[in-house]
Amino acid sequence: TPIAYAQFIEDVLAKYEPILKEKQLGLQLELDPDPIILGDEGRIEQILHNVFDNAVKYTNPDGFIKITLRQHKGDCELIVTDTGNGIPAADLPYVMNRFYRVNKARSRFDGGSGLGLSIVKKLVELQNGKIEIESREHTGTKVSIVLPTIKEDWTS
Ligand code: ATP
Ligand code: MG
Repeated sequence: TPIAYAQFIEDVLAKYEPILKEKQLGLQLELDPDPIILGDEGRIEQILHNVFDNAVKYTNPDGFIKITLRQHKGDCELIVTDTGNGIPAADLPYVMNRFYRVNKARSRFDGGSGLGLSIVKKLVELQNGKIEIESREHTGTKVSIVLPTIKEDWTS
């Protein structure tokens, strides 16, 4: 089904208001209203949740999260950047592998299983999209997800 992506993102983000407030995290949205994507709402929601959950979980209080959505020719790019603890260069190639976590000991108190990004990667590929992660330890992380969009209707 066609999904108005910007509105969908805002709806999913609404659920994060309490935790953002609790952690005193700043949020900046820059969402192009145009992109219409095709896909299963459950899948898209899962992608967004897993990425937002990481940004919130791995960013210290008073940090900052920025979410950008831009329409390009034939596809759109969602960028989620955070000012969190980042991912060491040596770990970065593996973070989308199942069960991979940078700090295994951390799971004892934050309850993660290391599956979130492996699921995101699978779902993005099922949507014929692409995901890239850039990160710098102690500085922050940038997740980019490119998904195909429905062509604009020229005739209307
Ligand atoms: P789960 O998502 O299953 O609850 P998880 O968050 O540990 O557990 P992933 O989402 O797959 O698993 O992420 C894998 C690892 O990548 C994390 O354990 C963390 O070390 C690192 N990571 C992911 N996103 C970020 C981020 N935004 N900032 C810093 N580290 C991150
Ligand atoms: Mg996660």
